Amino acid sequence: MSLLIKNGRIVTATDDYVADIWVEGETVQAIGKDLPFRANNVIDATGLLVFPGGVDPHVHLDMPFMGTFSSDTHETGTRAALHGGTTTVIDFVLQKQGHSLKEALAEWNSRARGTAVGDYSFHMAVTDFNENTRDEIREMIDNEGITSFKTFMAYKGALMIDDRQMVALMQEVKKQGGLVTVHATNGDVIDYLTAKHRAEGKLTPLYHYLSQPEMTEAEASGRFADMADYTGCPGYIVHMTCEGALNAVRNATRRNQKVFVETCIQYLILDASLYENAAEGAKWVMSPPLREKKDQTTLWAGINQGLVQVVATDHCPFKWEQKLMGKDDFSKIPNGHPAIENRLELLYSEGVHSGKISLNKFVEVACTNPAKIFGMFPRKGTIAVGSDADLVIFDPTTKHRLSAETHHMNVDYSAYEGWEITGKVKTVLLRGKVVIDDGTCLAEKGYGQFIKRNKVSGTI
Ligand SMILES: [Zn+2]
Repeated sequence: MSLLIKNGRIVTATDDYVADIWVEGETVQAIGKDLPFRANNVIDATGLLVFPGGVDPHVHLDMPFMGTFSSDTHETGTRAALHGGTTTVIDFVLQKQGHSLKEALAEWNSRARGTAVGDYSFHMAVTDFNENTRDEIREMIDNEGITSFKTFMAYKGALMIDDRQMVALMQEVKKQGGLVTVHATNGDVIDYLTAKHRAEGKLTPLYHYLSQPEMTEAEASGRFADMADYTGCPGYIVHMTCEGALNAVRNATRRNQKVFVETCIQYLILDASLYENAAEGAKWVMSPPLREKKDQTTLWAGINQGLVQVVATDHCPFKWEQKLMGKDDFSKIPNGHPAIENRLELLYSEGVHSGKISLNKFVEVACTNPAKIFGMFPRKGTIAVGSDADLVIFDPTTKHRLSAETHHMNVDYSAYEGWEITGKVKTVLLRGKVVIDDGTCLAEKGYGQFIKRNKVSGTI
C-alpha cells in the first residue's frame, strides 16, 4: 500500500517547509516538492501542518493502585492517545518489592500485548534493588529493549528506594548503557506532613497540596542530580513542577552536568487554586501537586532555555467513583489525572498559538526529544526518509471545546472541561496506516507494537 500526502507544511524540531510525503509500507520513502508518484491513497494537506506522531514518555495504563486499576487499559489509553496525535507511549512496569523485574514485566505484557492500538514501550520501575535485580538490568537492556529505569524517592514501603540503592542502581545502569529516571520528592517529609494534617483533621484536597511543598521537590531533585553526577549515570527527572526543582538542575549545569527534565502539560497550564474547590478538587489530585503561577512561568522559560526537554502527561486516569475513595480523606484519593488525548492540542493552543513557544520547539518537546532521550530516534520522533510513517495532519485554525462528552479516554470527567482551544488533530498515521480520520479510529485492538529501544548515552 502506498500513500501520498500532498502540499502539507512539514514541521520537525528543526525544519519548516511545504512539500509532499511519500509513504510505502510502514515508513516514509521520499519527501519533496511535487513528487511524481501515483499512490493508492492521496491526502491533500494544503493549509495544514504535518508533524511527527507525538511520543508521550509518561503514562500509566491499567496500573494496579490501592486495590483498583487506572481506568484506561492499554487498548482504550493508546486509542485515546491516537485521537490526540500521540502515536507512541511509554508505560511503567512496577517491580513488586521482594520480586523480580522479570515477573513484573510478564504481568504487564499479559495486559498490553495484543490489546494496544498505538505503539508502546515500557520503563522498568526498580523498587527493590539488590544483587538479583542487578543481574536483571543487563537482561532488560540487551534482551527486552527496556533501557530506562524508574525510581521513586517517595512512597516508602511500597515504591521508594533509599539513597544506598539509588547509587548502586545508577552505577549498574551506567555500566549497561541505560538511563535512570526519578520521581524526585522527599518522601519522609511528605509522609510527616500528610500524617500531621490528617491528625489535625485537615482532610480536604487542599491538604494534599499543602503536604507536598515546593521544598520537597527541590531538595530531592538536587539530591538526585548530585548522585547522578557522582556516578556519571544519565539522569532524567519526571514530572517536574516548580521553580525550586528547576533551579536545582540549573545549578547542576554549573559543574557541566546534564540532567534531563520532563514537565507535564498540566503543570504548564493549571495551578493549585483548583484545590480550594473541596467538592471537585480530587480531579486534580496528583503527585507532585499543581503549583503556582510563578512556577508555570519558570517551566515555560525552562523549555525555551533548553533546561526542560520534554512535555509529557503522567496520564493516570481514575473515574469519579474511584476518586471518591478519598472523599473524606485526601490521602485516600487515587493520584492522577487524564490527559493522554489532550497533550498535543493543549500544548499547541496554550504554547504555540498563544506565542509562548515556537512551532519547532513544540515538535521538539512533544515528539523528538522523548524519542531521542529514550532510544527510539530516528525511527520515532521525526519526519525523515526511513523513519516510521507516524504522522499527524493538524488543522492549526479550528477552534473546539474539550469535554468528557467527546473525549475517548475511559474516564467520566475531563480535567479541562469546557476549555476552548485552537488547533485540532485531523488525520493520524501510525506506521503508514491511517489510524485516525476526522475523529474516527480505523485501527484495531492489537495494532500497536511493542517498541524495543536502543541503549542511551545521556546526550541528545
Ligand atoms: Zn507517573
